Amino acid sequence: MTLGRPLLNRRLAAFGTTIFAEMSALAVRTGSINLGQGFPDTDGPEEIREAAVRALRTGHGNQYPPGPGVPELRAAVAAHQERFYGLTWSPDTEVLVTTGATEGIAASLLALLEPGDEVIAFEPYYDSYAACIAMAGAVRVPLTLRAPSFRPDLDELRALVTPRTRLLLLNTPHNPTGTVLTPDELSGIAALAVEHDLLVVTDEVYEHLVFTGAHHPIAALPGMRERTVSVSSAGKTFSYTGWKVGWVTGDAPLVAAVRAAKQYLTFVSGGPFQYAIAEALALPDAFFTAFREGMRRRRDLLAEGLRAAGFRVHEPEGTYFVTTDISPFGEEDAYAFCRALPERCGVAAVPVSVFYDDPEAGRSQVRFTFCKRDDVLEEAVARLGRLAP
Ligand code: PMP
Ligand code: GLN
Repeated sequence: MTLGRPLLNRRLAAFGTTIFAEMSALAVRTGSINLGQGFPDTDGPEEIREAAVRALRTGHGNQYPPGPGVPELRAAVAAHQERFYGLTWSPDTEVLVTTGATEGIAASLLALLEPGDEVIAFEPYYDSYAACIAMAGAVRVPLTLRAPSFRPDLDELRALVTPRTRLLLLNTPHNPTGTVLTPDELSGIAALAVEHDLLVVTDEVYEHLVFTGAHHPIAALPGMRERTVSVSSAGKTFSYTGWKVGWVTGDAPLVAAVRAAKQYLTFVSGGPFQYAIAEALALPDAFFTAFREGMRRRRDLLAEGLRAAGFRVHEPEGTYFVTTDISPFGEEDAYAFCRALPERCGVAAVPVSVFYDDPEAGRSQVRFTFCKRDDVLEEAVARLGRLAP
């Protein structure tokens, strides 16, 4: 406390340190295998890394790139959306490059919300959602995804809409539950958005990590183009999470609004990496298929190992995460479990409970990531196997 009041403002005071930083620090401190924070332990394609080196050496992007992103990347984002989803966007007015999806989400919420607007988002939430809604002065309204199915109840969603609702914040494939919204669910959500004239911001960073069903962008549904901001990024798809290259696509007026906020957040970032990701997005379909299938195999390896170790396992349809329930161990408090896990067996995980407003809904849920090498997963599973239920 100084100058008569707390330094951190009221909007942020509730948030503290992100759970990812907390659990990764604990993993480092204890020398544990880190299955908490979702980042791969193997770099992405060599030729993409080389493309970044080439860009650095030839001076592509070493000075401020254009505000909306380098033209090569904007064209590549548009071409990728057309190739995979049949969505057509103008690279000049309907694509905006951001500092990861994180900035795309922040800029969208800061641009589109007035203080007091209500935002409906599925909980458990990815942690930046709640913080960004708060920074915008808006109010979060959770739609709870409940174990064991973690599917949204559309009647419940309808009941949450009020005259103050401005925006639905979606995430499919969903971190941490691995739920992938079905075409029926997406149609129901879209119909509600149209009926109540709501905006939609949709976080699709795991678009290429769908193991069951397929990824369907809600922007492609009738009536949605003019009200949807889609956010994605290169981190997960190309295993370069540190490069922080992301993008937003949408109708030109929406993208112009998001750009208005983004220009005062970072203005621009990652010049040379933008050129490399432009090449990555043009990789052949075989790359995307092999990536998904490799991750499916690792999902199965981890899910099987966790089951054998005694966890109740929810098989994810997508993402890099397996959500488990620790009740079979006679334990109920996921946070306490995750704080103790590194000392108990040398593995770090993340408590899903911190991503819920409803303290009961996720109380005994723990998330593990499988975006690690096979030998690392095998060792982690062997260690977890010593936790007798
Ligand atoms: N959204 C979700 C659902 C995530 O899991 C993550 C974490 N990678 C992000 C957004 C942030 O993406 P980026 O690293 O591109 O900012
Ligand atoms: N998206 C990753 C996760 O959910 C990492 C997030 C982060 O470190 N902010 O684990």
